[in-house]
Amino acid sequence: MDFQLNEEQKMLKKMVHDLAEKEFRPKAAEWEAKGEHMPRKYLTMLADLGLLGLCLPTKYGGQGKTAFEAILAIEELARISSLCAAPVFESNVGPVKVVEQFGTEEQKQKYLPPVCRGESLISIGMTEPEAGSALTDLATRAVLDGDHYVVNGQKRFCTGGGESDAYMVYVRLSEQKGAKGIGGLLIEKGTPGFSFGKQEQLMGLRGIPSCDLIFDNCRVPKENLVVREGEFRKLMTAFDLERCGNATMCLGIAQGAFEEARAYALQRKQWGKEICEFQAIQFMLADIALRVEAARLLIYRATTNAATGLPVPLEANLAKCFANQMVREVTGMALQIHGGYGYSKDYPVERMMRDGWGWGLAGGTIEIQKITLASFLLGRRFDQRR
Ligand SMILES: Cc1cc2nc3c(=O)[nH]c(=O)nc-3n(C[C@H](O)[C@H](O)[C@H](O)COP(=O)(O)OP(=O)(O)OC[C@H]3O[C@@H](n4cnc5c(N)ncnc54)[C@H](O)[C@@H]3O)c2cc1C
Repeated sequence: MDFQLNEEQKMLKKMVHDLAEKEFRPKAAEWEAKGEHMPRKYLTMLADLGLLGLCLPTKYGGQGKTAFEAILAIEELARISSLCAAPVFESNVGPVKVVEQFGTEEQKQKYLPPVCRGESLISIGMTEPEAGSALTDLATRAVLDGDHYVVNGQKRFCTGGGESDAYMVYVRLSEQKGAKGIGGLLIEKGTPGFSFGKQEQLMGLRGIPSCDLIFDNCRVPKENLVVREGEFRKLMTAFDLERCGNATMCLGIAQGAFEEARAYALQRKQWGKEICEFQAIQFMLADIALRVEAARLLIYRATTNAATGLPVPLEANLAKCFANQMVREVTGMALQIHGGYGYSKDYPVERMMRDGWGWGLAGGTIEIQKITLASFLLGRRFDQRR
């Protein structure tokens, strides 16, 4: 077991750190305040640096690195804001991974290279108005009609919705209830019968698009089927890597919040001395560091073991669940260290707190992650319906 980054990884981390400070720090607060999406030219910049598809195979335009390198890059960008890290997240650990792991050669050739070039984004549509945590209740139906699937239904809270060019949509391929009837279909923006709902006004993660996907007799070529009926487990195992990305968003935010709190505690004076002289502040900083470092180790373990494949589900689950809780606690303490100023939009910690909260909802809530964890620990499955 080696806890050191190698020289190449150190260089990657530094390169992304410097990029984040130079290109994204000056812009992030403005995009967030206006709720603006990141301009596409930044995608080209990230692509030129090889950060999009960092862990996709070179034959599809990626860099052929492991999930761990992608995680290092996401962490550095998320220190500034989740918005800045989103394209690197999506192009490495998002639904592209479903295509890369389970797609046909034609699908990989068609969808992966444009993602690596920064010309295309792929999002994921699982959640529905009546199927959130109970995902296997999803009702979006795809019926084969000749060479096409006819899709009807509605997806909710799709991150990237409206902006992304293609969507990995979880659909019901037969009347079979539960997980058995579910598969995954790639649906391109612009396909007749596919429209978007209004952009959501979320509490945090502002600037990252989010909306409903609406399918009304939408005809999708049958060769766009990536995951067949009965292979729902495949969708979920690929999603375990996305969960590591989710955890890394939390880690980056928490690291950023720690840096803000430390700097503030060193310069803010009350009672004639810097507030870092007070033990209450020291304990909060220590508690922050303890949590951030523990999350980092869980994430690094899960993604190092994933290598170029997918993580061990239990390791991904532990990393996400811990990091989701950690970021809520850490940003809360960082805000408290700032006193009243932390509650003001003039300082970034209030945004970090709002952004951090969302990751414990996205990708499966903390409660659902704990149910899964209990299942692993006890060696039993717990049917939530009975
Ligand atoms: C920022 C953000 C980004 C998202 N991005 C995407 C995306 O890109 N694509 C996508 O498809 N979806 C996305 N989602 C949706 C997300 O996956 C769902 O919100 C989540 O799975 C929870 O579903 P729900 O909101 O319907 O809550 P519900 O399932 O209605 O849950 C409500 C509450 O009940 C709890 N609960 C539910 N069942 C149980 C149980 N059995 N035991 C104990 N507690 C339970 C939950 O933990 C929660 O606290 C996103 C959500 C957010 C907030």
